[in-house]
Amino acid sequence: MPLTSVADRLRESMWRSANDKRLKRLQRVVDAMPENPPEAPTSFDATSDAELAGFLAVAGEVAGREVGLDPFPNQYLAAAALLRGFSIELATGEGKTLVGAMAAAGWALEGRHVHVLTANDYLAARDADWMGPLYRGLGLTCAAVQADQDLTARQTAYAADITYSSVAEAGFDLLRDRLAARPGDRTGARREVVLVDEADAVLLDEARVPLVLAADAEPHRDEHALGLAAYVRGLEAGRDYVVAPDRRTVHLTDDGLRRVEDDHPDRDLFGTDSEFLVSLNLALHAHAALERDVDYLVADDRVWLVSGSRGRVDRLQRWPDGLQLAVEAKEALETAPGLQVLDQLVIAELVGGYDKLVGMSATMRSAEEELESLYGLQVAVIPSHLPCRRNDHPTRLHATSGHRDAALADLVRESGERGRPVLVATQSVRESERIADLLRGLGVECVLLNARNATEEAAIISRAGEAGRVTVSTQMAGRGTDVVPSPEAVDAGGLLVVGVGRFPSARLDDQLRGRAGRQGDPGESVFLASLADRLVTDNDPDHPEPAVVDGGGEVEQCRANRRVLGVVDHAQRVSDGDQRNLRWLSWRYGELLRRQRTHLVEVRETCLEGPEALDRLAEHAPEEVAELDERVGEDELEEGARLALVAAIDAAWSAHLGHAAELREGIHLRVLAREDPLTEFEKEMGAAYQGLSGRILDDAVAALLEAPVVDGRLDLESLGSRIPSATWAYTVTDNELGDDFTRMGRALRRRLTGRG
Ligand code: ADP
Repeated sequence: MPLTSVADRLRESMWRSANDKRLKRLQRVVDAMPENPPEAPTSFDATSDAELAGFLAVAGEVAGREVGLDPFPNQYLAAAALLRGFSIELATGEGKTLVGAMAAAGWALEGRHVHVLTANDYLAARDADWMGPLYRGLGLTCAAVQADQDLTARQTAYAADITYSSVAEAGFDLLRDRLAARPGDRTGARREVVLVDEADAVLLDEARVPLVLAADAEPHRDEHALGLAAYVRGLEAGRDYVVAPDRRTVHLTDDGLRRVEDDHPDRDLFGTDSEFLVSLNLALHAHAALERDVDYLVADDRVWLVSGSRGRVDRLQRWPDGLQLAVEAKEALETAPGLQVLDQLVIAELVGGYDKLVGMSATMRSAEEELESLYGLQVAVIPSHLPCRRNDHPTRLHATSGHRDAALADLVRESGERGRPVLVATQSVRESERIADLLRGLGVECVLLNARNATEEAAIISRAGEAGRVTVSTQMAGRGTDVVPSPEAVDAGGLLVVGVGRFPSARLDDQLRGRAGRQGDPGESVFLASLADRLVTDNDPDHPEPAVVDGGGEVEQCRANRRVLGVVDHAQRVSDGDQRNLRWLSWRYGELLRRQRTHLVEVRETCLEGPEALDRLAEHAPEEVAELDERVGEDELEEGARLALVAAIDAAWSAHLGHAAELREGIHLRVLAREDPLTEFEKEMGAAYQGLSGRILDDAVAALLEAPVVDGRLDLESLGSRIPSATWAYTVTDNELGDDFTRMGRALRRRLTGRG
């Protein structure tokens, strides 16, 4: 396609975007791409306009020849933006996979290793496979990391110029590398350039989900938790506590609070013993909101989370510690083997470890400010290659959820009958099941899709564009896979996306809308909300009532309803602001620990690589080490010191993390004591870290002296076995607990101050 013929159209839409100057400059580079691309370069410098233009021309040529995709002009522009360090917003279906690959190839030719992070293993494998010929055509290698790979396979994958992996695997590998017992046990990943797909989802929405490595630990019996589990069993549902209809939250009523106060006369619940209330709430949540064999299974003396409804146990997920403990106590699992958290990280720490971070997604612009302040990203908005023809309707607001459901059923049935594919998106797995049941009960055939298996999901979602097909899903299900409407579906108006209730941020709404109307296809989107939606009840409980509703309970779009019609938008802004604050707060809470960890990892690395461990121990305990030196060989002593020190570092860090978690759980309640929780947290963790290095050295020396010496040989094996091996890798589920605490915090504030 001649580049100049589309340049005008591009400019038209482009200049409206906020960052036109940057794009204008890049557009000139794209316009200057040579007609006959030169030979594939063996190196290039993206800061030079001429070299960038030359590289793009070659990459495009190779993509056309080897992958069968001739890049559109906006894809060249997008790749140029990435190579110049911008993160890009590019609409769904515009071909970010190819854009990312062209940029990744460019970085690799600049001599840097590139990791492309995707949402899951399926997409990592798919994209590496799909784009492989492009890389090979440019003389580069690429590979994908998968969850089931062993160390050797991972080392091979990380040795490639470009490595695709899921965000989780990249995180687990960083954690494993930090805990390697020997230099050869590391994956060899070089963290130079990282390109994050769906960057706003990963960097913002999932930013607070920690990735954890843990080892088996001794079973423990927690009397306090067991006692609370027994106590909450005696509380009365409806009177002492209320379970939300969606069973996602439980809270004590005023009666309940009074009863708890009466039952614990020696406790100052809203003062010094406020932490008691936190564990009581967890026990209550475990008791009333979580159901055995539905939300979790009990097997092998452990509690296993179930994700989705088909009984699939998710071995990769755990609840936050307090809740996990509360559920174990509910099930009286006194012998449940505990888990010892060895190390953990959040996404910020993972991506922060690279020299260069760049992202792409269809919905970045509205979060640009936050992405810039947290991650230093600058977003360039790339226009789409064809104008978007999607029709986004205003939200239809209903008085009750019953009215909303009825309207939903009508809309879906009627659209389906006209041969139009419909994608219904809900906010939770439970809700998606409820809606699917509702539709089926009315005789509407539908396919239910919820986050279970990425491969299966991709297959289902790729068929969601067939004429008359109704698909019910959660918001992110099947992400990364295109919904292509069939020709009959296009005739019927394209894909209709229906959101059941608006999401907690406008950005999430936009992510959903983007499923329809890709690459100039027709399509429509609408949200059906109700005043009973959680978004509204949580964030704008004192909203005005509608003046006029129609026969179906829909709030009419008229002047008298002006204020109530704005309620959902308002509630969404409140919720978005809360989420942003939470992210900022958890970022701040994590900062100190991240610095401490970085420092400790550096020490550990030098010990792992060289003879420094022995030097440090000899300096700390000269006499003891000198004495040992006379009994065993130098090499052995060095190796022994290394093993002992590494084991001591790991144990100390694990304990430090445990301390931080405990402190963190109750610290926000110090507001009640008029202390600033963050300052207090940093003070205590700073002090704890001060004591750490002395203790590490003491422990390492003690371990070294304790190790048996047989026939003048130091028992290295017993020293090595002190280094705990991580048997568990999981993420802490991003459930609604965090919101519970916000809510509880508000309730407490209200009680204490008389305002909410
Ligand atoms: P995104 O991640 O931006 O939503 P994808 O990378 O999944 O988009 O690509 C969407 C679809 O567009 C794919 O089916 C892909 O084959 C197609 N596509 C991408 N680039 C081109 C191109 N230059 N020419 C033709 N089809 C393309």
